[in-house]
Amino acid sequence: VKKIAVLTSGGDSPGMNAALRSVVRTCAYYHVQCVGIYRGYQGMIEGDFKELNARSVNNIVNKGGTILKSARSQEFRTTEGREKAHENLKEHGIEAFVVIGGDGSFTGAMIFNEEYGFPVMGIPGTIDNDIYGTNFTLGFDTALNTVVEAIDKIRDTASSHNRLFFVEVMGRDVGHIALNAGVGAGAEEILIPEEDLGLGRLLESLKRSKLSGKSSSIVVVAEGDKIGKNVFELKEYVEENMPDYDVRVSVLGHMQRGGSPSCFDRVLASRMGVKAVESILEGKTNYMVGVVNNKMALTPLEKAIKGHSSIDTELLRVSDIMTT
Ligand code: ATP
Repeated sequence: VKKIAVLTSGGDSPGMNAALRSVVRTCAYYHVQCVGIYRGYQGMIEGDFKELNARSVNNIVNKGGTILKSARSQEFRTTEGREKAHENLKEHGIEAFVVIGGDGSFTGAMIFNEEYGFPVMGIPGTIDNDIYGTNFTLGFDTALNTVVEAIDKIRDTASSHNRLFFVEVMGRDVGHIALNAGVGAGAEEILIPEEDLGLGRLLESLKRSKLSGKSSSIVVVAEGDKIGKNVFELKEYVEENMPDYDVRVSVLGHMQRGGSPSCFDRVLASRMGVKAVESILEGKTNYMVGVVNNKMALTPLEKAIKGHSSIDTELLRVSDIMTT
């Protein structure tokens, strides 16, 4: 392989730039040409390419977001769109690509590989940590640090005013961010989709907590949690049933996706980039690079997409004990 392309696709996450830098530098190390594709698959279709060398990625290891930009491309979902993308890659002499993104981006890569036998490799970039085949996705650790910092600040105001705060965090259908950040920030209760606490038990728990002498509380709610229809209805429910509590809601939102990546994410990104390029050079294709028990691991894209990243039951137990 003489020329490899790299793109970031789908939702962005902190650490994507560090992964891009790693892919580019690893290519340089092995004397392989590297091409950056702007705006994800849409840029692949439109031929938005730029040659990158080791110096093109100076000073980006610490930057959030992605300098290649990301996009969602409807056109890549069509055979015509993918045909155009293939033509462009061929024209530029590109022989493989690394896509940094989530499960949708991997699905696109897999379909492209099936159609054209084109070598593809995935690097999991999402704050949700919801991908099978890796203990950590890029951006997860940074998002946890952001959430913990935000909750620490909310706690200051909560305890000054005897307030109960529902803090909604991201995570899509899984509760990894809520559970980890909840434990880290010392939340009184953590609501995640994997465990149905039920409104009755939530109320009991809050009343118990009040009786035990706590005057303020933080409840972390995963966005995918099904306990109430949404976090504002939760607030109403608790206000009706605990009239003496001043209940507030804070939805952290997109701040969780931004910011300078943590050291952990930068190191992870560097390792993943090296593994992705080396795997391509070894003739491997259709895999996602991950880290499992602190070792680099390859998981077939199909498995990474369909598999389930299960919640850490040991951490659940720790959380139960900590919220006593
Ligand atoms: P996030 O975790 O933020 O959702 P993602 O990679 O899952 O990231 P998607 O928007 O689902 O984000 O997918 C990114 C892009 O991948 C899509 O815009 C589309 O171009 C391509 N893609 C997704 N699914 C398919 C598919 N079934 N066929 C072809 N391309 C696809």
